[in-house]
Amino acid sequence: MSQQPDPPTSKLTADCGSCFGLCCVALPFAASADFAASKPAGTPCTHLRTDFRCGIHARLRESGYSGCTVFDCFGAGQQVSQVTFGGQDWRQAPDTARQMYDVFPVMRQLHELLWYVTEALRLPRARPVHGELRHALDALERHTAADADTLLDLDVPQLRGDISELLLRASELVRAQIPGRRKNHRAADLIGARLRGADLRGANLRGALLIAANLRGADLRTADLIGADLRDADLRGADLTDAVFVTQAQLNAAQGDAETRLPGELSRPAHW
Ligand code: SF4
Repeated sequence: MSQQPDPPTSKLTADCGSCFGLCCVALPFAASADFAASKPAGTPCTHLRTDFRCGIHARLRESGYSGCTVFDCFGAGQQVSQVTFGGQDWRQAPDTARQMYDVFPVMRQLHELLWYVTEALRLPRARPVHGELRHALDALERHTAADADTLLDLDVPQLRGDISELLLRASELVRAQIPGRRKNHRAADLIGARLRGADLRGANLRGALLIAANLRGADLRTADLIGADLRDADLRGADLTDAVFVTQAQLNAAQGDAETRLPGELSRPAHW
């Protein structure tokens, strides 16, 4: 078993000042409620400045770019910019720009997995799988340090599948503390569902579509919300204490208030 410490949270937190605006260039957008305009992958957003900062950062929501406020690269942007490509940006080195754009979504998935594995290692009840999680963590760390060609050859779906199984086992160990029958809404279509005040303690909400669901005052303690789509879900007064695998981006996409109880070290979004 590795004796390496967990990756510092800072490595898995976006540092836009060390990134070449990769999410604003590499990814495609389709005009929608989340993005005011469309753009293809590999084309800089018209609001991206020459210093790789967003020209409308302070007014993204009112400008129709709320999608930008809920995207989280988990620190993949600075890793690709400063480590994989050694600090050479896509303007200086147009020959490698395409490869940089292709590597970014791969790195983003690796960093997202690193974030989840790190979270699972913080769960005392998941201790029986901590050994396997540490092996997964070490492997992920090695992948993130690889060169661009190696990264593009990675079988990311396989990696995701293997780690997903591990995270599920960690989740089951945590949720087992809730007595009785726990609700299973895995990947369920709960768009606009009326779940106000629902008892969802220890529920499996993995990948559930909870877009605009009314979860006001719901009890979501120790629920597993990995990959759940919480866009515009109403979390006012809901209790997410000890909910597992909730990301800041999920909270940023939802609605809440001062009464919403948050899991772990996540922050209350500014618009709540
Ligand atoms: S609006 Fe700003 S944050 Fe969004 S893609 Fe454009 S430059 Fe990036």
